[in-house]
Amino acid sequence: MTTTRTDYVALAHELAPRFAENAARHDRDLSFPHENMAELVRTGYTAMTVPPEFGGEGASLAELCEAQQVLAGGCASTAFAVNMHVHGLAMIARLGGPSAEWACEAVRDGAVISGGFSEPGVGGNWWHPTTRAEEVEGGYVLNGRKGFFTGFPGATHLFLSAAMMDDRGLPQPMAFLIPKPEKGVRVTAEWDAAGMRATGSHSLALEDLFIDAKWMVGELGNLPLLFMSGVHWAWCSFASCFVGIARAALDHVVRTQQQRVISVIGKPNAHLPGIQFKVAEMAAKVAAARAHLEAAIHAEHDDVDPLRHYIDMSVMKTTVTRLAHEVVTLGMQVQGGSGLASSDPLQRMYRDVVAGLLVPPATDVVLEWAGKLALDVPIFAEPRWVG
Ligand SMILES: Cc1cc2nc3c(=O)[nH]c(=O)nc-3n(C[C@H](O)[C@H](O)[C@H](O)COP(=O)(O)OP(=O)(O)OC[C@H]3O[C@@H](n4cnc5c(N)ncnc54)[C@H](O)[C@@H]3O)c2cc1C
Repeated sequence: MTTTRTDYVALAHELAPRFAENAARHDRDLSFPHENMAELVRTGYTAMTVPPEFGGEGASLAELCEAQQVLAGGCASTAFAVNMHVHGLAMIARLGGPSAEWACEAVRDGAVISGGFSEPGVGGNWWHPTTRAEEVEGGYVLNGRKGFFTGFPGATHLFLSAAMMDDRGLPQPMAFLIPKPEKGVRVTAEWDAAGMRATGSHSLALEDLFIDAKWMVGELGNLPLLFMSGVHWAWCSFASCFVGIARAALDHVVRTQQQRVISVIGKPNAHLPGIQFKVAEMAAKVAAARAHLEAAIHAEHDDVDPLRHYIDMSVMKTTVTRLAHEVVTLGMQVQGGSGLASSDPLQRMYRDVVAGLLVPPATDVVLEWAGKLALDVPIFAEPRWVG
């Protein structure tokens, strides 16, 4: 008997229109799309990045990114929430070892992961967590704060970072994947933002949170390596969510302008030169964003210098999300005042796409590292700037 492998892009095409039906309501009510997450679990979408060696179908990065673009075109918040899960699992699986094995098993059984690496005062500098881990019998006790825990309301498991001080007094960053605990985690602020409103990206306090040693992902101190070696899963999938919004915005604007008739010319708006020029610019930017993303997806990811790989992927994410933002901004100008009305999904896309500029990696750091690399200036030399 032959079993058919899931076509995750086709699945995203099936789910996106259904998710789109409730996107405006979740955006308005700040509600988390629990029913969408349940559907993503039920259909096996959340298990797409479980590799074959851990009993899964192992969707490729290209397949994941195309599926996420399609999903984001329906409901960007849902796509962004599940993105934390699918790319996080891919990075854990890539590390191998016991944590990869049990994480994949849990996900095959329906687990949903959300990840908390950002902290107040740390921002996008994820490699320097201020959350402190103290070694105790059988595990660690964590104290600290996490911001932007996307997908927290629907998560069964939390992927989070902390640092333990070594004998020299230096912080050693580490990561854990834990079943969502009953105590030790407190929501300090529920997510209430201008964009990506249905992502449930709450802020948390970790208060004497006990974590069994068996939940550590990788080894003490290897958090930067975990990010660098698996960064293509992170930044390509992040970029995909925002390219998906841009693609949907272009389609929406084209459809509207083909139908809307302006009385002074007696023809659809599509006949106006200004509309044509801006739509052409939008299409060109979408094509450029997709081409850069595709190049990053199909680049060599294994036999690479980790720092250069990290910078290449980060430059791609920065460029692609800027292009996506420009596409939707142009779309607003094409659409005119009606694009700002809450009945037009374009205004939601406009608010959602901004998040692409804000999520990691921090733009200024990317430009600094990429510029130094191009100019052959040492990247980590101190002081960073010479006046
Ligand atoms: C919708 C949304 C969902 C998110 N979901 C998650 C999530 O699930 N998990 C998670 O961990 N995080 C999440 N984040 C947070 C995200 O990961 C970033 O960490 C966060 O947006 C950046 O932090 P910040 O806003 O404090 O900005 P900062 O990182 O403090 O940046 C502010 C400014 O300072 C600059 N800057 C920062 N660091 C440096 C530096 N070292 N040198 C020079 N310039 C610098 C930046 O370029 C920027 O201009 C989410 C963010 C958003 C908007």
